Amino acid sequence: MTARTGLDLRVGFIGLGRMGGPMAKRLIAGGAAVTLFDQRPEAVERVVAEAGGGRAASPGAVAAGSDVVITMLPDGRAVRAVVLGADGGESGILAALPAGAVLIDMSSSAPTGTQALGRVLAERGIAMLDAPVSGGVARAQSGTLAVMVGGDPAVVTRCRPLLALIGHQIFETGPLGSGHALKALNNLVSAAGLVAAAEALLIGRRFGLDPQRMIDVFNASSARNNSTENKFAQHVFSRSFASGFALDLMVKDLGIALDLARDTDTPAPLSAACRSLWASAQGALDAGADHTAIVQWMEMVAGTRLGTGTTDEHR
Ligand code: NAD
Repeated sequence: MTARTGLDLRVGFIGLGRMGGPMAKRLIAGGAAVTLFDQRPEAVERVVAEAGGGRAASPGAVAAGSDVVITMLPDGRAVRAVVLGADGGESGILAALPAGAVLIDMSSSAPTGTQALGRVLAERGIAMLDAPVSGGVARAQSGTLAVMVGGDPAVVTRCRPLLALIGHQIFETGPLGSGHALKALNNLVSAAGLVAAAEALLIGRRFGLDPQRMIDVFNASSARNNSTENKFAQHVFSRSFASGFALDLMVKDLGIALDLARDTDTPAPLSAACRSLWASAQGALDAGADHTAIVQWMEMVAGTRLGTGTTDEHR
């Protein structure tokens, strides 16, 4: 194992999208030496222009000069493609990473796939942590994400100064895969909270209540949740539907949560109904829709729009 630790670790960062871009910028601004890769060259150029960092021509080139590689990709399948290579062999970062290196998957991946990948890496002397995040783009930009980390505590300790540049709360959750499991369950609760609030707002709207007044009351009362506080006024009533978290990714997370329910023989009827709602919205909305656009789909199904005011003009 290399002697480097904390901010001396040379970092490779793969996946510079809505979350990965600002997270990589936090690492660079915090003094870490970061080499960047994304399959979209423009994503790399944006981070280099705004924060600095080095460019790499391929995932293998990232790995060759890195003690730690961080992935922030759509899902575990993309992570496996980057780690193992398209051919499942020598073209991924696995072939180029030195023994003693660490892979930190900060994507929201499926825990069973993470555990399997960890076993492949361990055979080559490479450690793996799963460290998914919650908080969205704004908290990625401010470095105040919640980070849930699974894996060997000694490896977590070695990497913690890097994680602390990205998140202000870092929770150790147990062995490899536990962070990814917890993240999917977090998003299950988040997804259910959003549609529960949307249904209540639609019912209230059709009764004649003002949706904004309902949200004000919810936020001062026991119905308050992250969606009532941070999504309805900001992204639904404003009609912007631009939270920065794609509906496709939420459906992916719900699939992971439902797989966990199945694998643990846990009855989860509410979760199944919730996933089914989100999957229906995915089928009806344009590709790439923001996850808050599920409310637009619920409005269409109800034939009622959540405008503000007390009239029923949108009904
Ligand atoms: P995104 O689609 O904006 O970014 C993904 C990036 O990965 C893109 O830049 C894409 O070009 C790149 N990419 C995809 N496949 C690649 C490959 N094989 N090689 C190299 N680059 C590749 O997604 P995001 O919103 O940043 O989400 C990333 C992860 O974080 C997801 O797992 C998501 O569920 C999770 N997450 C997102 C949010 C959010 O608010 N957006 C919050 C918490 C967690």
